[in-house]
Amino acid sequence: MTQASETETKEKQQKPIVNYLKLPDSPDEKPYLWGSRCKACGAAYLGPRLACARCFAVGDFDEIRFGDEGTLKTFTIVHQSAPGIEVPFIAAIVDLPEGTAVRCNLGGIEPDPEKLVPLLGKKVEMYTEKVREDREGNDVIAFKYRPAN
Ligand SMILES: [Zn+2]
Repeated sequence: MTQASETETKEKQQKPIVNYLKLPDSPDEKPYLWGSRCKACGAAYLGPRLACARCFAVGDFDEIRFGDEGTLKTFTIVHQSAPGIEVPFIAAIVDLPEGTAVRCNLGGIEPDPEKLVPLLGKKVEMYTEKVREDREGNDVIAFKYRPAN
């Protein structure tokens, strides 16, 4: 691993909203989801994992990097949420080809069932966006999915 710490004093940083979203240091590299794959049975999980829920193996995991694409499994349009969260938004579950599913928000499309139902089972791609700033002024970055072209 290379360490390029030349000009860092108090620069604004980007912080992932969940621990399974990786934001590479290099701007040429795209953010991605990562997780763990059980060496015993091949089950995939988001983020770090101590034990396998499928075969109960403990501690024997390979790190996996999930690809950008998945398929839309289900969605719901959320009209009421916590204060400060813009509604309506689309909450969804996306199946990942690596063998797990991820809960996420869907963007790039109106929260309209007539537009969303035809997307069920169709390809979606991950992207990231800033959702807020934390107390230190760092950008908090979330991932979402949107219809893939
Ligand atoms: Zn397992």
